[in-house]
Amino acid sequence: MSLNDLNTWQSLPAQQQPEWPDRAKLDAVLGELRSYPPLVFAGECDQLRERLGSVARGEAFLLQGGDCAETFDGVSAEHIRSKLKTLLQMAVVLTYAASVPVVKVGRIAGQYSKPRSKPMETRDGLTLPVYRGDSVNGLEFTPESRIPDPERLRRMYHASASTLNLVRAFTTGGYAALHQVHAWNQDFVRESPSGVRYERLAREIDQALRFMEACGVQPEEFKTVEYYSSHEALVLDYETAMTRIDSRSGRLYDVSGHMVWIGERTRQLDHAHIEFASRVSNPIGVKLGPTTTPDEALTLIDRLDPERTPGRLTFITRMGAGKVRDRLPELVSKVTASGAKVVWVCDPMHGNTFEAPSGHKTRRFDDVLDEVKGFFEVHRGLGTHPGGIHVELTGDDVTECVGGGDEIFVDDLHQRYETACDPRLNRSQSLDLAFLVAEMYRN
Ligand code: PEP
Ligand code: MN
Repeated sequence: MSLNDLNTWQSLPAQQQPEWPDRAKLDAVLGELRSYPPLVFAGECDQLRERLGSVARGEAFLLQGGDCAETFDGVSAEHIRSKLKTLLQMAVVLTYAASVPVVKVGRIAGQYSKPRSKPMETRDGLTLPVYRGDSVNGLEFTPESRIPDPERLRRMYHASASTLNLVRAFTTGGYAALHQVHAWNQDFVRESPSGVRYERLAREIDQALRFMEACGVQPEEFKTVEYYSSHEALVLDYETAMTRIDSRSGRLYDVSGHMVWIGERTRQLDHAHIEFASRVSNPIGVKLGPTTTPDEALTLIDRLDPERTPGRLTFITRMGAGKVRDRLPELVSKVTASGAKVVWVCDPMHGNTFEAPSGHKTRRFDDVLDEVKGFFEVHRGLGTHPGGIHVELTGDDVTECVGGGDEIFVDDLHQRYETACDPRLNRSQSLDLAFLVAEMYRN
């Protein structure tokens, strides 16, 4: 493989790419990005692929989550810490309930680019280009801020680097030790109104930990966690500039994150994004919406995982609570019949978005939960492995999705609606979901 092999996408149609006003400026930034150090190492990507291989075989569970859109302003110790903390707390609950390792992957340290359903938006009679993520333009609704600026790609690199640096410090420096994470879960159960329902499960985990302690078991694995980064590979110029040849294997890796995925809007079989993804050796995800046909899924497998390596390809299904029981079975059964071993993950967010009367884009916690339930039912019915969940969440107490144990009502949405793009589960809704999925797993 050479870096030239990477440019095959350039002659194909690419959806959702920014219209940069200044090509020379873009080229200068891309040139610099090519010279920057990698954010992740190829060996780490391979390790994640192995972990996902266990998920594909039914021996592990994937928990993937984070913001819909990270923002440059959101790169603060507090935000990163609370997001990480929430995901780790969810993972402990799921690990106990599923009795298998939980592979932890953040939508983090690179999730700065957004596909949009319309190119323009109108407010109070003013029509401007839509916000496409902090990597492209600004959220502020002014003509200047909405002009794509290639300088933002450089900021994306640095924002990703500082996020990942802190994440690595937290996950290996003792902050994420199992006893610590369990203590946070106990706080949630004790202090939040919705938490009391999970008292029994938390007590069981506590007993298990005490038992191991009494036996003198104190493995290194309890002190640190393996945590991986992922984002949607959307702006292909950036992803290409961040791709390197691995000196060990001679293969290409997109070193902007451990895992990258291709979104529902850019997964056309003969377009640029799938071509790009076919060239890099990272674990690849593809979002599959309700219109996906079994033939499309099978062709995606041929394109992206011709060698049938378990863990290479993850299908992230996002059907909607009302459709998952109807649409998912045929996809799963035909893929399974083909002999391919993919990871099946449920994104219960993107098929369940609606607009509240207040104009806020929102999701109902019950719909999210119901899609996960449907996903489990379908896989159980077919004898396949419900491999994981992919959720949009934050560690903060925002009011973006309605429902949950500490119920948020439609009229509350305005209080702390802070997302730059899609509505996220807040801290307590995320923990609620983990405990409820844990119960699902055990039933
Ligand atoms: C997303 O994950 O934020 C997203 C846009 O998802 P999808 O491609 O599934 O619509
Ligand atoms: Mn989203």
